[in-house]
Amino acid sequence: MEHNNYLIKKLIPYIQSIFLVILAILICYPLRGIIGYQSVSLIFIFYIAFLSLIFKQGPILIASFFSALAWDYFFIPPQFTLYISNLEDILMFATYFVISIVTGILTTRISYQEKLAKYREERTNAIYTLTKALSNTSNLEEVINISTKQIKNFFNFDVIFLLAEKETLILKNSQIKLSKKEIAIATWSFINSKKSGRFTETLSTSEYTYYPLSTYRSKLGVLGFSSKDTIFSKEQETLLETFVYQISSSIEKELLNEKAKEIMLVRESERLQNTLLNSISHELKTPLATIMWSVKSLQDKETSKEEDIVNELNNEIYIASERLNRLVENLLDMSRLESGSLKLQLKWHDINDLIFSVLKELESDLKEHIVIFEPEENLPLIKIDFGLIEQAIFNIIFNACIYTHKGSKIKIKAYKEDSYIVIRIEDNGNGIPEESLNKIFDKFYRVDNSKSGGTGIGLSIVKGFIEAHHGLISVENLNNGLRFIIKLKT
Ligand code: ADP
Repeated sequence: MEHNNYLIKKLIPYIQSIFLVILAILICYPLRGIIGYQSVSLIFIFYIAFLSLIFKQGPILIASFFSALAWDYFFIPPQFTLYISNLEDILMFATYFVISIVTGILTTRISYQEKLAKYREERTNAIYTLTKALSNTSNLEEVINISTKQIKNFFNFDVIFLLAEKETLILKNSQIKLSKKEIAIATWSFINSKKSGRFTETLSTSEYTYYPLSTYRSKLGVLGFSSKDTIFSKEQETLLETFVYQISSSIEKELLNEKAKEIMLVRESERLQNTLLNSISHELKTPLATIMWSVKSLQDKETSKEEDIVNELNNEIYIASERLNRLVENLLDMSRLESGSLKLQLKWHDINDLIFSVLKELESDLKEHIVIFEPEENLPLIKIDFGLIEQAIFNIIFNACIYTHKGSKIKIKAYKEDSYIVIRIEDNGNGIPEESLNKIFDKFYRVDNSKSGGTGIGLSIVKGFIEAHHGLISVENLNNGLRFIIKLKT
């Protein structure tokens, strides 16, 4: 059926060219008395030259041949015979025949060359546009979307992508349903690395034409085209193959990128696990050793009689337990942040109350520091998870206490600025090196040579909690000391 249509399509220009010659004969026939039969041949030559702008070589040759015979039959005396009596007319007929054929052939050749040049330009443009668009993609989905769009633009074909995942082809166009038969044909193409389906010699009854997507390194999947036109031209086919190759390369690039990212992630998580284990075991050891040593001393009969020593040992045990407790709290907070199970209990609170609450909790740690906090009046209430923001401010003030020397000042200020409540916490310690400023909120990051103890997770938790409130946190060095700025949306 398709083949018949194709033949009819091919025959149409031949019929049209003959029809146009008949038309010319009909027009010229009544005029032959006025212009003379010889002039008619000149008109016919012009006419053939004109037709060769429209038709290809085959129809033009037929038109030339047919018009030459028609001229002889209808115009050259004796009329209505193919016989030519006059030698001059025979020469004229031969000249007409040759000229009309040569004119026809030359003009079609020129227009073919022109078409070829135009087609080549279009082809170069199409490949350039596709390559350029594909070079900017950053994931597989983008490659598929861009390729689909470019093929639609250039060929007006609908495209489907079937990519290989663990040796099975997975259809990537969610809006399309493929029958089992189509999938089987696509799989044939994938396995045999050959095109198949419609317009091909293999399984041509299918809806799509399948081209294997592969590079010299790997088989990636199959690309299916469905077109409303009947058959691809040879040029279209070559261009399509170039497109398929470009698309295959881009898909391979994205798949390799994804694999590299996965490997990086695994390495990163292995690194984090190791860091976590190292820092935790170190952090656990010191307070545990203190507790064990103190308890052992308390068991000693002589020591237990000395009230001062007993009090001191109890105090040591308390401080070490607090340190352990803080570590466990931080680890729990971190795992809540990591697992995404953090649920905010948002309620209206006064930030001044929150700061007072933190300062009270840190009272004994801050004994040897000068804390300056003047609560601002008329500070509006803010909707926050009290526990989380309290923990964040706690971690910052606690750091300010342990990373500065005794007698240092810790200044805290909370005020309203635009649509934010800003909390500023600054100390007058040594600050941190400039290069550490953008890493200080990273997990397990500790500034080189900073005081021992600590795991480097405190500030990452602070950032996580503030960002969970859609707030902002930044840090800057002062002339002396470090300043943290937290902004929470009112
Ligand atoms: P940790 O205190 O457990 O090491 P943090 O995430 O709380 O982890 O802090 C990360 C690093 O930032 C600390 O190791 C410390 O070097 C540095 N740091 C934090 N606060 C201050 C501060 N106020 N002054 C100087 N350095 C600080």
